[in-house]
Amino acid sequence: MTAKVLIVEDEAPLAEMLRYNFEAEGFRVAHADDGEEAEILVAEERPDLIVLDWMLPGVSGIEICRRLRARMDTKAIPILMLTARGEEGDRIRGLSTGADDYVVKPFSLPELMARVKAILRRAAPDRLADVLRVSDIELDRAAHKVVRGLREVRLGPTEFKLLEFLMESPGRVLSRTQLLDGVWGRDAYVDERTVDVHVGRLRKALIRGKERDPIRTVRGSGYVFGERPGA
Ligand code: CA
Repeated sequence: MTAKVLIVEDEAPLAEMLRYNFEAEGFRVAHADDGEEAEILVAEERPDLIVLDWMLPGVSGIEICRRLRARMDTKAIPILMLTARGEEGDRIRGLSTGADDYVVKPFSLPELMARVKAILRRAAPDRLADVLRVSDIELDRAAHKVVRGLREVRLGPTEFKLLEFLMESPGRVLSRTQLLDGVWGRDAYVDERTVDVHVGRLRKALIRGKERDPIRTVRGSGYVFGERPGA
């Protein structure tokens, strides 16, 4: 799974603990200390889910939730609110403002993870599905196996991750920067040409004979996998 979670939490130790545990579960993680930074990060790359603390310096979590829900491009992003014990009225207000769920601090980590996964199963089933399918290509995350038609495609670990990332957003142009962040991680010391090299290797492994190239290069922008759904 390469779902991306944005953690909006000003308490550094809690934010670190959440980051560590989300990364251990295979999530990609972004973190903001306050609401304004959160809005900037959401505009940069839409997360699959936001864990949003209620009590933040400056703009409150509830106000951020309201703002995200008011905008077309962000209204569908699932939000899990973190609230402090005893804010019963606040909790109800949080849900009516549009949060998908909430947990009360101090929370148990397994409970938080279970709720996150339940929200994602409803909102972004592709991000959690064991098997991804785009036209004649099938990627099985659990078995770590790729099949095109009847043929098994053997891929190195980087090509596998790259294909997985591409197949999660079929029909969408992904920039080299997005691919770098998604496959290698934001802190990796690789440049954009590395992406091209691995896309080349992936193509070579995927295409036999007259098979169609499932990856389209968009000049100056990046790469698209498959066709736009429904097109
Ligand atoms: Ca806080």
